[in-house]
Amino acid sequence: EGMNAQDLGKLLHREPAEIVKKLFMLGVMTNQNQSLDKDTIELLAAEYGIESKEKVHEDISDIDNLYQKEVEASKESKHQESRPPVVTIMGHVDHGKTTLLDRLRHTNVSEHEAGGITQKIGAYQVRVDDRLITFLDTPGHAAFSNMRARGAEVTDIVVLVVAADDGVMPQTIEAIDHAKSAGVPIIVAINKMDAPGANPSHVTEQLMKYNLIPEDYGGDTIFVKISAKTGDNVEELLQMILLQADVLELKADPHQKAIGTVVEARLSRGRGPVADILVQQGTLEVGDPIVVGNTFGRVRVMTNDKGRRVKKATPSMPVEITGLNDVPESADKFVVFEDEKTARAVGEQRAQNALQKQREKVQHVTLDNLFDTMKRENMKEVGIVLKADVQGSVEALSQSLEKIEVEGVRVNIIHSGVGAINDSDVTLASASNAFIIGFNVRPTATAKSQAESDEVDIRSYSVIYKAIDDVEAAMKGMLEPTY
Ligand code: GDP
Repeated sequence: EGMNAQDLGKLLHREPAEIVKKLFMLGVMTNQNQSLDKDTIELLAAEYGIESKEKVHEDISDIDNLYQKEVEASKESKHQESRPPVVTIMGHVDHGKTTLLDRLRHTNVSEHEAGGITQKIGAYQVRVDDRLITFLDTPGHAAFSNMRARGAEVTDIVVLVVAADDGVMPQTIEAIDHAKSAGVPIIVAINKMDAPGANPSHVTEQLMKYNLIPEDYGGDTIFVKISAKTGDNVEELLQMILLQADVLELKADPHQKAIGTVVEARLSRGRGPVADILVQQGTLEVGDPIVVGNTFGRVRVMTNDKGRRVKKATPSMPVEITGLNDVPESADKFVVFEDEKTARAVGEQRAQNALQKQREKVQHVTLDNLFDTMKRENMKEVGIVLKADVQGSVEALSQSLEKIEVEGVRVNIIHSGVGAINDSDVTLASASNAFIIGFNVRPTATAKSQAESDEVDIRSYSVIYKAIDDVEAAMKGMLEPTY
């Protein structure tokens, strides 16, 4: 089903009547509602100085662009209101992320709210005094960076959980680097304060090496000592999250067109496609025509995190919606449209495009395309994830690499460590458009296959100067191709 004169009028900011008239002059008899074939659209587009029909279609089917426009519009808006922060919990395995999320889920839930069946909808809100905090229910940096790799930046604040009896561990460092690379502020929650052997000052000292410096030491990172198990000081953590949110001045305009991101989605037997979404701007209402990723529909039933039906969802509110034509993917963006017809047209076209070229792959930076990518994207720095067999090599390599500067472009080691190249390294590189250097280490089997499908470049070296030479040569566009 193609577009008609009315659709084209909207697109070209012209009265539909003018379009019909123009078409008449071009020898095409039509009315405002009759759908037009590709050739006619192309003809008309040329008449208005638009090169091809592709462009006409792209304009409204590019929902990432529409989404971005709404984000920009909200910045200009005079009706901005403060919105709840969206928080992701990260940290090393077994340091208490799940325990904390479970405790928070049951914090400050009024009896009235607790009545319903608790639903897992990918995110939930906690009430603190008269304010709210939204927690994403999937802890860890894999989910976080997977969303980022797909262009979704929903997290405002990261809570880094570190067990007081275990201290900084490899995944603690990974989490720090993932958050830093995303530019998201970190609040440190030193957990398991009730455990024998809890040594919070040791943990603090360790974290200071990663530039997380508490206020008592002249830094600006918030540290809170908690016990997720007993609940001790968890309320304080919530207060600190709100304080950090105030500093960030998180705002949204609830009156504009609703946009947001899919957190999770699935097919339900009885209800069809179900998507857990997070509203980011505007207010989503039951009945709204909507395009979500490559699918579309009309919001039929909307359920909040307490399992209650709601009619509206405001910024930072997670809700589950039904009424979509197909199951979207997590990290897909959604945009509300004025009318169902346009939503359908856009949704169908997007589905078709997606089928045709599968998912468009982002071209990642590699050592081979580095020079061209630097020029094309006006890169200011080259991101590298560095793994080596011993700490000495990590240090020697990162120091030398970070000294490289070519025409004002510097190397930034976004993460380094001892050990095999793992999944987290690949996700981070993918999300940050970086490549990976391994020195005397190889990727794990899963990291290797993930890197292949994400097209992340992994380079292995066993001679330090060779690695340094290659990076410098690549930045100068003088890397010898390998065959
Ligand atoms: P995750 O892997 O980070 O999600 O960690 P979990 O939440 O699964 O916790 C791992 C283990 O640590 C579990 O046995 C928890 O009961 C325990 N744990 C979590 N928080 C605390 C705490 O504050 N104090 C103590 N003593 N144990 C905790």
